[in-house]
Amino acid sequence: MKKPILAALAAVFMLCAVLVGVVLYRALTFGAPQPAVVALESLDFSIDTAAVRLGEAIRFRTVSLAGAEGDDPAQFEHFHQWMQSSYPAFHATARREAIGYSLLYTWEGANPALAPIILLAHQDVVPVPGDTVASWSVDPFGGSLRDGAVWGRGALDDKGSLIALLEAAEYLAAQGRRPARTILFAFGHDEEIGGESGARRIAELLAARGVRAWFALDEGGGVIDRHPLTGAAVAMIGVSERGFGAMRVRATGPAGHSSLPPAETTVSTLALAITRIHRMPLERSLEGGPAMDMMRALGSELPLPARAAIANEWLFGPLIQQQMASSPPGRALVGTSIAPTMLQAGVRANVLPAEATAIINFRIHPRDNADTVLARARAEVADLEGVTVEWSGEPRNADPISSSSSSGYALIAGLSRALSPEAPVAPMLVLGGTDSRHYRAVAEDVYRFAPVVAGLDEARRAHGVDERLTVENLNRMIRFYIAIMQTGEHP
Ligand SMILES: [Zn+2]
Repeated sequence: MKKPILAALAAVFMLCAVLVGVVLYRALTFGAPQPAVVALESLDFSIDTAAVRLGEAIRFRTVSLAGAEGDDPAQFEHFHQWMQSSYPAFHATARREAIGYSLLYTWEGANPALAPIILLAHQDVVPVPGDTVASWSVDPFGGSLRDGAVWGRGALDDKGSLIALLEAAEYLAAQGRRPARTILFAFGHDEEIGGESGARRIAELLAARGVRAWFALDEGGGVIDRHPLTGAAVAMIGVSERGFGAMRVRATGPAGHSSLPPAETTVSTLALAITRIHRMPLERSLEGGPAMDMMRALGSELPLPARAAIANEWLFGPLIQQQMASSPPGRALVGTSIAPTMLQAGVRANVLPAEATAIINFRIHPRDNADTVLARARAEVADLEGVTVEWSGEPRNADPISSSSSSGYALIAGLSRALSPEAPVAPMLVLGGTDSRHYRAVAEDVYRFAPVVAGLDEARRAHGVDERLTVENLNRMIRFYIAIMQTGEHP
């Protein structure tokens, strides 16, 4: 009687031991090596002059031209003239083309056999709403220098990048140096409103010319000083960004008086449809997007319990999903996000509306696409009479994931490690949208990164109040771009 129980216990114990062994082994061997540091040359440019020029750039109120009252295209024209007079050596050597208010510069490289690099930055900024001006510590368009930073709308997003690129190019051009590869500078003028007449047209022009770049590099990633997973600095290189779709859900039925209503009205049916679609079980996991590669890159930096869980997603999948689902950024990283945002129905309390509609906003994860998401939503409401589901406007899929094992990634990551040695580098999914997605067809890979070291609070100032860029960050960016412009053969 006792013996079989003991044998069973022993078997269970053995099984547990093996399981723990596997979990631990996978945890301890989990991770990918960091890319090698790329050496930086010592430079002597004047960072003070660069900071002053960033301040000047901020004074041009290049708010995106939204086709609305208050649009001021002259600001872009004046900004362009200022660029030409402030960066004469660069303008003497690079070819400048205007595409609307967007600018494309072509700086021919010494070796035409090497694929070019496309460097992006946008000229436009978001407005400063009148009721927020009083909350600023400085004039939002004053470009003042204070506490070791340049302040004003656009300092972080994205005139800092634009000025750092121009400073880098001017530094090299003034010494009579030219890049090894051709460098294409693409400065859009409508990034904040979608980039349709800026980035998109520049990319189309490049495609028509048969350009196939080594990589395109834009804003969107940086060095976060305290990463939620590791509690320490991490350099995040954006390798993809989520797609966007507005789904229209419509319920129709007979109109009439509400004193004798049917069992379901168009409004109640719509409510049901919204709830079902909102909760539909789309896959959420670390695989199928950049999340697992990010975890792998952070490998040994992760606390052991987290590492053990992530390295064994086969076992701890539900736990990880629960953890990830507990915060909006976590959810966004592992799956498509769904947010009902608009509702329309009815005109009077006592009238049954013949139609009720809603818009549900989707941010499409790289694992999903607009077709599969729509099919899934339709299946959820197939049994609801009078309900139709379609995309309102053209949905956009997530940007295909760029390689985190390419030579271009290694260059960007290696330079980040040289500039911020304390920060391991990891690929990431960009949660917002940037101009870079338009360049997919003309570049092998598309990356989003600038070596700006900042906390989340600091990053939130972009589009918010008291936006600023520290002079130290501007310095890092200029050194970073100078190194990129000089890259010849793959590192
Ligand atoms: Zn931006």
